[in-house]
Amino acid sequence: MKLTVHVIVHPEDDVESATVVREVFAVDRDALATDTLGLHLCEAQDLLAAVQDTVVTHQVSTALSAQVACPHCGAARRHKDSRPIVMRTLFGTLRVDSPRWWHCGCQPQTTTTFSPLAAMLPQRITPELS
Ligand SMILES: [Zn+2]
Repeated sequence: MKLTVHVIVHPEDDVESATVVREVFAVDRDALATDTLGLHLCEAQDLLAAVQDTVVTHQVSTALSAQVACPHCGAARRHKDSRPIVMRTLFGTLRVDSPRWWHCGCQPQTTTTFSPLAAMLPQRITPELS
């Protein structure tokens, strides 16, 4: 028997998003026996990690897409570079790619660049863990 688990990411209400279906886990099982009953610990950890990765990837993507336009003129802000930020969670440590963008030139700014994801996640530990 082959069993697969899919995560379905439903689109926001806008028309640009599409439903995303990702297979996050698959397992093959032979005849029922004590060592084939249910999930093994490592399989459960893999399943959790894959679901976590899918959720985080889509949360980050959605949050960054919502901020790419300059709030004053609507122009897309340009990407300068990126570096990972480390988030500690109950389910392990996450390394999330955090872009750095150039500020739009339409307004005076105190800095030339900013990191929107780092600003949205000022703590590097989730409340559940702390
Ligand atoms: Zn602007």
